[in-house]
Amino acid sequence: MPELPEVETTVRGLARVIEGRRIASVEARRPDLRRALPEDLGQRLTGARVIGLRRRAKYGLIDTDRGDTLVFHLGMSGHWRIDPSETAKHDHFIIETGEGRRLALNDARRFGSLDLVRTEELDEWPAIKALGPEPLEIDARELKRRLGGRKAAIKLLLLDQRIVAGLGNIYVCEALHRAGIHPTRAGGSVSLARLERLVPAIHDVLAEAIAAGGSTLRDFAAPDGELGYFPKSFAVYDREGQRCACGGTVKRIVQGGRSTFYCPACQR
Ligand code: ZN
Repeated sequence: MPELPEVETTVRGLARVIEGRRIASVEARRPDLRRALPEDLGQRLTGARVIGLRRRAKYGLIDTDRGDTLVFHLGMSGHWRIDPSETAKHDHFIIETGEGRRLALNDARRFGSLDLVRTEELDEWPAIKALGPEPLEIDARELKRRLGGRKAAIKLLLLDQRIVAGLGNIYVCEALHRAGIHPTRAGGSVSLARLERLVPAIHDVLAEAIAAGGSTLRDFAAPDGELGYFPKSFAVYDREGQRCACGGTVKRIVQGGRSTFYCPACQR
């Protein structure tokens, strides 16, 4: 599943192709993804110029000079293909620029979404409005305030998009490990001193993943380049039974229906 670093890398890759360019045509090859596509999508995008690309949590935002923002979410399996030589199965939405560049949104499982929102109303758009602060911007005091009094496990609270937006399972596991915090500890009981280790750990795991994704961007000049997934290595994620750097053994438990990987020897 794409997490924040993949979305950030995707936005940067798309920007190279369409920022400043006029959209010559769009093609919706089916009426819906997770939910229906806007009926006037083609009409509002065709002829518009792309003036900027941004990310909010795991949403990619493509702003046009008509005051619209195309909001995409990659869901479980979504990714953009750059200049594909031909249309592939599961290419559901295609954008062409006047210069003949093509972008195809491919999503086999269709948990992703595409919406068109007035740019000035974006902050009030329900899915965006509900989001907490960005994990690359939050500080320890703000996180402490947001966790205050909460008895739920820190792992689950960090996945709650209203507390901090854009963190997913992989990077929560990795950041808790790096900060030495046990994933089942009650969120409200984690001291400010420990959050002051956790917040930089969150920043670092995300920044390192974004840098790793950025290193794959040079490949996107190639035809059929795919944005969104890149090889990564983790300290605990998906490493059940393997040795932690501290000498302990990585364990897997299930929290909220999802796997948590952690090291009982160095996470307290
Ligand atoms: Zn360990």
